[in-house]
Amino acid sequence: MKELVLLGDEAIGQGALDAGLSGVYAYPGTPSTEICEYIQRSKEAGERNVHAQWSANEKTAMEAGLGMSYAGKRALVCMKHVGLNVAADAFINAGMTGVNGGLVVVVADDPSMHSSQNEQDSRFYGKFAMVPVLEPATQQEAYQMTPYGFALSEKFRLPVMLRITTRLAHSRSAVKRSEVRKENDVRLPADLKQFILLPALARKRYKLLLSTQEKLEMESLDSGLNRLEQEEDTSLGIIACGLSYNYYQEVAADAGLKHPLLKISQYPVPAGLLNDFVKQVDRVVVLEEGAPLMEESLTGILENDYRIGGRLNGLLPRDGELDPLLVKKALGLPVEAVRAVPEIVKNRPPALCKGCSHIDMYNALNEALEPYSPGRVFSDIGCYTLGALPPYNAINSCVDMGASVTMAKGASDAGLRPAVAVIGDSTFTHSGMTGLLDAVVEQTPLTVIISDNSTTGMTGGQKSHATNRLLDICRGIGVEEEHMRVMNPLRKHHEESRMMLSEELAYEGVSVIISQRECIQTAGRRLRKEKSKKAST
Ligand code: SF4
Repeated sequence: MKELVLLGDEAIGQGALDAGLSGVYAYPGTPSTEICEYIQRSKEAGERNVHAQWSANEKTAMEAGLGMSYAGKRALVCMKHVGLNVAADAFINAGMTGVNGGLVVVVADDPSMHSSQNEQDSRFYGKFAMVPVLEPATQQEAYQMTPYGFALSEKFRLPVMLRITTRLAHSRSAVKRSEVRKENDVRLPADLKQFILLPALARKRYKLLLSTQEKLEMESLDSGLNRLEQEEDTSLGIIACGLSYNYYQEVAADAGLKHPLLKISQYPVPAGLLNDFVKQVDRVVVLEEGAPLMEESLTGILENDYRIGGRLNGLLPRDGELDPLLVKKALGLPVEAVRAVPEIVKNRPPALCKGCSHIDMYNALNEALEPYSPGRVFSDIGCYTLGALPPYNAINSCVDMGASVTMAKGASDAGLRPAVAVIGDSTFTHSGMTGLLDAVVEQTPLTVIISDNSTTGMTGGQKSHATNRLLDICRGIGVEEEHMRVMNPLRKHHEESRMMLSEELAYEGVSVIISQRECIQTAGRRLRKEKSKKAST
């Protein structure tokens, strides 16, 4: 089989296709977006008719993946770490129901928050749901662990989490492909009650899940993914989880280190394996990307055992990505000074593109809000969150997807009038709609601005479920027709926009203003495509 040069994300997409994938379900989120995009672009996936559409949010993606698994086929579900919070209800319950066809849930964590509102370690969710977690160290492993994940999922009838981090997701390497496996046929679960979590049935499923844990540990021992690399210098032992194995290899090769190394890529990790390893060395350094999950399970909650060091005792920083320099420092090796950034490299804070429709919307909103005291605009997550920065200084919150509408509602309930929510079209259908329903049911005075650019702009322009549907959706939710207005955010319409906003801010009820103009990036791409299509005909 030929080699491909792939991003970690793409390696997972290819691995899933080669494993007989029948459908991928995902909501875009950095650093996971490219997995679904790779499958969407894949010729093989198209020929096989593999389902590869974006979902409305991570929870619907998880539930649809579970449904495909129920029907016996292999499904991949992808999201970033904060997306797993949205999908958590379905994810934890999928551990309880178990699966039929293989179900692999890829979660891409973002340590150092390159493009996220928090750092969180999804391995905890895997542990919480009591399902196997795989953590590749390289792109090749990401490729290979995907078919293994499906096989593991079908063997134990459980969803399997594949956890990666930003650096692995977004760096490229050569990947050797394996044989392509045929897709599963449709076949329903042997026990048709398996997926019914009524309390009496759920209690049985939970006991089954508990009784499977020992077998999962044995599998972690036998799979070869957790392996001991024996070396003679036992003054120190290294436990390296996932990508940090790579960082250690780089440092050890440079410094000529010969310490025993326990590579962890599969959880739950058998306690015996860890015990045996720790006993044979004088001291242990735990390298793991994210939170100190492994270190904590070794040291427990009692006094610090300084034979074991890592993120908990300050040997490594408690937050942020790991890198070879941090690993060197933790191992007591000399660390060369990092070269200063040359003058020519200018600091470029993120900014809305010149000509972005959000700019005109914020300019109009800021003026409309002039008669009121500041601090009443609740924003959501998307390009428009950059409205927090100068010169706009237009928003006062950014918490999680969909939170703008519900936070504005809460503030309005508290007596803050007017209260304004700013939300994007894609985020509105992700999880803003239900908050609007709450406001409509209670007739809570608030103004919701849906800044509709007909795409998911922040992650590169994926299709938005809201395109051409916003008015119908708001109408269906029950927003009054005369307080559902469409604004054209262009400089030449500024006065009109400001007036429309002022009128709705003064309204003591629910109003929705759809500020509608296509993202200039996707518009540019679309026009270039249309032009080249015309030229070729
Ligand atoms: S990508 Fe689109 S939505 Fe985002 S800032 Fe640029 S123009 Fe605006």
